[in-house]
Amino acid sequence: MTLMGTPGSDLISLIECVRALEGRDSAARGEKVITTLKSIGLKPFIQSCRWPRIRNVIVDFMPDSTDKRLLFSAHYDVVKGSPGANDNASGVAVLLGLCDQLCRVPRPVRVVFFDREECWFRTPLLSLGLLGSLFYVWKEELQNVAAVYNLEFCGQGDFLGIWPVKKREIDLAAVKQAQAAASRLGVPFRSAHIPWQLFSSDHLSFRLRGFANAVTLSLLPSGQIPILEEMLATMSFARLLIGKRPLLPEPLSYIHSHGDSAAKIEERSLKLMLSLLLELVRDTSD
Ligand SMILES: [Zn+2]
Repeated sequence: MTLMGTPGSDLISLIECVRALEGRDSAARGEKVITTLKSIGLKPFIQSCRWPRIRNVIVDFMPDSTDKRLLFSAHYDVVKGSPGANDNASGVAVLLGLCDQLCRVPRPVRVVFFDREECWFRTPLLSLGLLGSLFYVWKEELQNVAAVYNLEFCGQGDFLGIWPVKKREIDLAAVKQAQAAASRLGVPFRSAHIPWQLFSSDHLSFRLRGFANAVTLSLLPSGQIPILEEMLATMSFARLLIGKRPLLPEPLSYIHSHGDSAAKIEERSLKLMLSLLLELVRDTSD
């Protein structure tokens, strides 16, 4: 299986990207991301740290533009023992597809493939991850960023989830723009507040640094939305604290397990998420 694409060739195959990343460890995934970017003619910048060991992979389009840029991200690292297809080869594949498109029609965009999102410290009450994105927000200026769209679980379904969005955050520009992009494409969507103790991702590092306009985009099958609604209605921090996890929508139930395989990934979902990102990019250039 190859991730190859050559400058000027057809789009890289998103599903082939997922298959090529599936079952590899985090370091091998990082290398695959870098070789794929190089194969489409890009020169990624590696932001690295020796201890803790971190290798974030960054690509800038129109680096000399003075416009504020959109930042798209996805973590490429994986939990040991999981094939890591939906979490998060799916997000990485969509970002590689976005890079391929932006090679042809550049826009002021930064794409970041984060390392070390997954948990490195876990107790029954607390788990800590996000090392790659915490390192990034500590090192980088955020004044020239218009919005952050982070990707997780993009490989199954047709229904867009925008999270975490509390009631007071529904007017965030990133939320409004993601909703508008989904509406224009006829994609059903819902924004939802998901407590970080249940699910979190690299958007949180930006928020911790004071950059509020950062959300994560995910897909779920429409048929699983009633289960999502039930989950949102019944979960609470107190219940999580005593170890009561809610019933999860099916694609989320096998995250971090051996069941997260590429066999479950749907190419049309990956393409749908890529269309949404291109719609967000197009929106800024109108
Ligand atoms: Zn993840």
